[in-house]
Amino acid sequence: MADIMVYCFIDGGWMGDVAVIAVCGKCGDVIGSHISSNENWAKHDITREYHHEQYRAHMTERHDGAGYTTEWVADVASHSALQELVQQQQAHSSETPPEGA
Ligand SMILES: [Zn+2]
Repeated sequence: MADIMVYCFIDGGWMGDVAVIAVCGKCGDVIGSHISSNENWAKHDITREYHHEQYRAHMTERHDGAGYTTEWVADVASHSALQELVQQQQAHSSETPPEGA
């Protein structure tokens, strides 16, 4: 079985920091997130062992323990595989009310 890609990218900012998230390339779930002081730290933070534990747990629970490879996505808008996932997620999330509503 081919490794599942885990896409890591900046998803906005917060009080001068950046929010980085990791998305499962198979199901589109957000499986990790971190607030970092800048993009260089974000790249480092999202691949900390703490986050790898989350990725491994997700692969075990959802994808029969498949292997995975993390990929840093610097240009989200031009990343076709990631864009496809985002659109799938948006279509999916519009079916259910937002959390806490
Ligand atoms: Zn998944």
